[in-house]
Amino acid sequence: MLNVEKIREDFPILETGVIYLDSTATSLTPKQVLSEMEKYYLEYRANVGRGIYELAERATSAYEAARKRIASFINAIKGEVVMVKNTTEAINLVAHSLKWRKGDKIVTTLLEHHSNYLPWLRCAERYGVKVEAIKPTPQGMIEVDDLEKTVDDSTKLVAMTHVSNVLGSITPVEEAARIAHEHGALLLIDGAQSVPHIKVDVAKLGCDFLAFSGHKMCGPTGSGALYISREAWEELDPVFVGGGTVESVEEGRFTLLKGPARFEAGTPGIAEAIGLKRAVEYLDALNMDHVVKHERKLGERMYEGLCSMEGVEVYGPEPKYKLGITSFNVEGLDPHEVALILDASAKIAVRSGMHCAQPLIKQVLKKPKGTVRASLYIYNTKEEVEKFLSAMEELTRSALKRK
Ligand code: PMP
Repeated sequence: MLNVEKIREDFPILETGVIYLDSTATSLTPKQVLSEMEKYYLEYRANVGRGIYELAERATSAYEAARKRIASFINAIKGEVVMVKNTTEAINLVAHSLKWRKGDKIVTTLLEHHSNYLPWLRCAERYGVKVEAIKPTPQGMIEVDDLEKTVDDSTKLVAMTHVSNVLGSITPVEEAARIAHEHGALLLIDGAQSVPHIKVDVAKLGCDFLAFSGHKMCGPTGSGALYISREAWEELDPVFVGGGTVESVEEGRFTLLKGPARFEAGTPGIAEAIGLKRAVEYLDALNMDHVVKHERKLGERMYEGLCSMEGVEVYGPEPKYKLGITSFNVEGLDPHEVALILDASAKIAVRSGMHCAQPLIKQVLKKPKGTVRASLYIYNTKEEVEKFLSAMEELTRSALKRK
């Protein structure tokens, strides 16, 4: 079990009294991550992969150690990890570095965050590839049967989220890997909402790409990573080139480096990578199995509490099929009104609106104004969930009275 009271001491922002239920958008940052980044700025501030003086060597080895540690967090033993600034950048990197042929097919879903949908539409415009999106069930589940029917021999890439940022539903990624590979396609997993919460093992999943953001998992903003399998490596031609990516340059030609630096053009987020390394150490010390257990327990209580309230509509599957994210609406109120009332009445931070997932919200859930979303992480307590539910009771009572 997590020692939540002790964990909370690492997050001074909680002393403001905020009940932070928006970790799906971005998590809070523990002191340990900040002091690691500060150490870089104050003690060995230099660029990486360039100078040979002592400070530069120290910065380079800290940066490469960060890459290695982040890779081991997802068990990336059979591939490379490229440092990026977020999930969106990682997915766009794949979209524009893959060697497409006209007529190639990309299979994705309508469960996706815009960051795992728009890049594929852009590929269709630019490279003449086709995009097919699988519709989830009304509860936000992706059926293996639909994957079987949609992925065929013309499919070059299957791009799917691991966990929905709106509903918390978990997708069948291992089956997706099997189906994609049976047809010679590659599998990209958007891990923005899974890597921070559950143990993700790329060797076990068998995916070719895994994209995730550091800022959703206790790391700094502007940090993230892209795992690339050995098989997929050959299929990529870096979209950005320049300083830091080359082995040699002559007039009129260049040879790129062999390793992940070939994808990291320009000075990278050095403090950010170092901060993300500290964040994965922090999470590993808590134990990811305990992290998910904690969130699921609180999530279940939140889901059941909301489901039992008159005038509240809850979306998504039952708790056993999802992580600690709950989307809902209150009859007679816009999602933004609910968020503003919770903030004003109880200092509760929840997200409201479209959650960067308009196809899901408009076409599948059919909620043109969006939803309210409450999400949980390591620092949330049972008491906070109870306070949230009491605030919701009060809010729905007055909304029903006004009807
Ligand atoms: N995919 C999913 C599932 C997400 O939840 C998010 C962030 N809400 C993203 C992609 C985009 O992440 P970022 O803004 O860090 O690029």
